Amino acid sequence: MEATSGKGRLFVVSGPSGVGKGTLIREMLSRYPRLELSISATTRSPREGEVDGVDYHFLKEEEFQERLDRGDFLEWAEVYGHRYGTLSGPVRRALKEGRDVVLEIDVQGARQVMRAMPEAVSIFVSPVSLGQLEERLRKRGTESEEQLKRRLEKAEWEMSEGRLFRHQVINDCLEDAIKSICEIYERESALSG
Ligand code: 5GP
Repeated sequence: MEATSGKGRLFVVSGPSGVGKGTLIREMLSRYPRLELSISATTRSPREGEVDGVDYHFLKEEEFQERLDRGDFLEWAEVYGHRYGTLSGPVRRALKEGRDVVLEIDVQGARQVMRAMPEAVSIFVSPVSLGQLEERLRKRGTESEEQLKRRLEKAEWEMSEGRLFRHQVINDCLEDAIKSICEIYERESALSG
C-alpha cells in the first residue's frame, strides 16, 4: 500500500500520551473538510463517554487477533497492556477516493507506517518537558496513579524517537501548536497537488 495510492495523503501524528495530539487533530479536522480521522481498533475498554465506531472500534482480544491473522492491520502495537491498530481497508479507500487521512497512533505504530510508507507525512508532537506532560495527564484525570507512571516512563523513550519524524511540533502554547500543524498540513497537501 502506498501513501499516495490515490490523490489523498496520509498523515501520521504521534507523541507521548497526554501531549495534546487529539486537540490538535480536532482543530485540523474542523478546518480541512478533505481530511478525515482513521478510527483505530483497540482491545481496551471504552472510557466514559466513548462510543464504539466513533472513538475506537472496541474489539475483544479474539476479534483483534483474527483481524491481525487476516492481515487487516496497516500497523498495530501493544500500548500499556492493550492492543491498538489501524485497519488498512478504510485508509486505503479514503486515499484512493482523494481524501487525506490522519492517524493518531503511538510511536511504535508510527515507525511501522514510516517504514512501510516513506511518503506518509509524519508529525511528532512533544511537550516542553516531562513535567509539563505530567501536569497535563493529571489534569485529564483519566488514568490511575500506576497508569500515569507507566505513561510518563514511556514518554521519555518516545521523546527520544521524535527526531525520526519528518516534522516536530512543540505543544507549549496551544495556539502556536495549532498554527504549526496546520501549516504543515497545508504545505504537505499542496505538494501532493
Ligand atoms: P488511549 O488509550 O489513551 O486512547 O491511547 C493510548 C495510546 O494508544 C495513545 O498514545 C494513542 O496514540 C495510541 N493509539 C491509539 N490508536 C492507535 C493505533 O491504531 N495504533 C497504535 N500503534 N497506537 C494507537
